[in-house]
Amino acid sequence: MLAACPRRSVVSGKCFRWATARRSLFCSSSVWRSPRSIRCPTPRSPTCSITAPRASRASTSRCLRDDASDARRTLRPPLKADMFALKNIENIDLPSKTLCLTYDDGPGAESAEIGRFLKAHGVRATFFVVGKFAVDHPDVLDQLHADGHIIGNHTFEHPDLPYYVSVNGDVRDQIIRTNTVIQKYNEGKPIYFRATYGKWSPEVARELNVDMRSSFRHVGPVYWDVAGIDCHFWKQDKSVEEAAEAYLADIVQKGGGVIVMHDGTADMDTVATKTRTLELTRLLVPKLQAMGYRFVGLDEIDDRQLTSPLSDSFGLRGQNGRFMQASDDGTLHWSGGSVDAPGTRFVMEPKGRGKIALRTVDGRYLRVDPDVDETVRLAAALDVYALFDNIPVNPSQIMLRSHNGNYLAADSAKGGALRANAPFMRLAWRIGYVPTSGGYLKPVSFGQRLSNARRAALFVKSKLLQS
Ligand SMILES: [Zn+2]
Repeated sequence: MLAACPRRSVVSGKCFRWATARRSLFCSSSVWRSPRSIRCPTPRSPTCSITAPRASRASTSRCLRDDASDARRTLRPPLKADMFALKNIENIDLPSKTLCLTYDDGPGAESAEIGRFLKAHGVRATFFVVGKFAVDHPDVLDQLHADGHIIGNHTFEHPDLPYYVSVNGDVRDQIIRTNTVIQKYNEGKPIYFRATYGKWSPEVARELNVDMRSSFRHVGPVYWDVAGIDCHFWKQDKSVEEAAEAYLADIVQKGGGVIVMHDGTADMDTVATKTRTLELTRLLVPKLQAMGYRFVGLDEIDDRQLTSPLSDSFGLRGQNGRFMQASDDGTLHWSGGSVDAPGTRFVMEPKGRGKIALRTVDGRYLRVDPDVDETVRLAAALDVYALFDNIPVNPSQIMLRSHNGNYLAADSAKGGALRANAPFMRLAWRIGYVPTSGGYLKPVSFGQRLSNARRAALFVKSKLLQS
């Protein structure tokens, strides 16, 4: 039952992030129940603490739990979304006076202490870690994870990604290497990603999205509302009080949002010794809580921009160039003309030990029972016959081996039905993984564009002054 799920969103009251899926890796319920049945514990009034998203904060008398749109009350249709969005995910829906705390560039010397302090104050933060530091401090990551914080990916060496990809830098490697360190903290969950310096381009997204290893389960890049100005304060030998004041002014002006601080210094070693972000956290968090602000974890936010990638589906292209397509009789054929053809979208669920389950977007699993025949059919049951060994051939192709040891292939080289009929690997079909494109992103206002451009200009100016 949904009510038994330990991971219900504090914002929306429904099973966080998985509300879009009929089946959940966390929840035991096979069908997500409408939040219609979830009563708002607070009366609908102007003082309701759970109010309309920031886009309409002017009228903060609406209670999300009462006034959720119909789209939220029913199963969302699968969305056309990349694993990595083509642009930064910004303008994230948060109720008024709600904050989401994130730390970049660590783990650093103070990270564990920051994590402990936040836990004592009931705050769950996201630490976007740099892989090269993370490999040296698994104990810190263990501690952060044990304290309930989220460990996100912030690349391995902290390069400027749009430039890095333009000079043929291996951006996929930047993500994959960091994941080898942090994936154990994110088993079966989304892996949140933040772009270094917030710099991003569609080219970087496309480069990452072609590779299952660097795209699957990734959500991002997660942008911010309240910029990480702390390190600049430390660099200029300014006090903790001055930094706190600047953060407070920004937060009050914006009324809430995603905050960035830095628990490490990825490319400013001279600043590392001056860092006072622990003290800043100790000063700022209790002050904000006393002012009535509440903190939520990134995985508790019910914003379509963050939740859509997990309901994402992809196409599987066979060696005949056609897409795997579900038929009305429950069999599958290598017949789809494109990834947009009916019945050609699938969702992958990792099941551990190299096994995966594949299902259609309406929740039926691919299953082959060797006692019946070698034909792969769609079934509601997720049993041993619905698990396949996932064997990567190259970044965008896999082979799938069924329970009886046979690989998935087809009736013939020209196509036909999907069958577990290849007893040897050389007869297996190499199956291409084709992510869909588009991504759901809210439109960015002209003012925000201007503010982003200004921030980018300031960054370039500070670098020029440095050199
Ligand atoms: Zn960074």
